[in-house]
Amino acid sequence: MAWCSLVRQALVLSALLAVLALGAGREEPLVVVIDPGHGWDPATGGYTGAVNRYTGDHEDEFNLAIALRLERELRQAGSAVYLTRRDRYVPPDYDGDGLRNNADRWYLPNALGEVVPRAHKPRADAYVSLHLNASPKLSRRGVTVVYSSAFRAARHREQSQALAFEIYRELTAHLKPSAEPFTVNGLYFDKLALPHAIVEAAFITNAADLAWIRRPENQQLAAEAVARAVLRWWRQRAAAEPD
Ligand SMILES: [Zn+2]
Repeated sequence: MAWCSLVRQALVLSALLAVLALGAGREEPLVVVIDPGHGWDPATGGYTGAVNRYTGDHEDEFNLAIALRLERELRQAGSAVYLTRRDRYVPPDYDGDGLRNNADRWYLPNALGEVVPRAHKPRADAYVSLHLNASPKLSRRGVTVVYSSAFRAARHREQSQALAFEIYRELTAHLKPSAEPFTVNGLYFDKLALPHAIVEAAFITNAADLAWIRRPENQQLAAEAVARAVLRWWRQRAAAEPD
């Protein structure tokens, strides 16, 4: 009889554990919009991002290469990922105003982010725009991560700042720091109604930074660093705001 009740207890316990596991499995996945900055514009036949005039390298291509690797890392971790572009071309005209420019880039993450989180899909939890920096001062190098604290982005200031600092911390394990994360207001990401970070991983105008980011294995390191940062930020956020 005692043995029987032990078995029953074990069965109840395993059923409970199964329910808990199911509950954990039902957690909403992190949804991220990745914006590989800029793109090639067929209308003008030109690149729209920063360029190294001495080598002919354009940031557009590196931004996309790192974005596709970041997408893979985040998907492997169970996240849902949307990209503003998947090829060399500037992103589509999301808001239908006839312009394909940076002002359109707020539309996709905003449209994804505005629906009530955890009630409807799709929705986005974070927006990460990937860029390379440029400066007329060719010695400038290193990581810069910025975010907006104005207009619609103001409501997400703390979360954007936390995300920016996580990304900065991870990237500066591989690359030199340029400046600690700071706010840049007055650009299209003021319109982003969700936590976001604009990542300038390195300076395309600096020879050492460019040599580093050109190597596919380093693009992978950068992608993994950003993925780790985004996932840690998400876990910390989930811990701070339980359902
Ligand atoms: Zn850029």
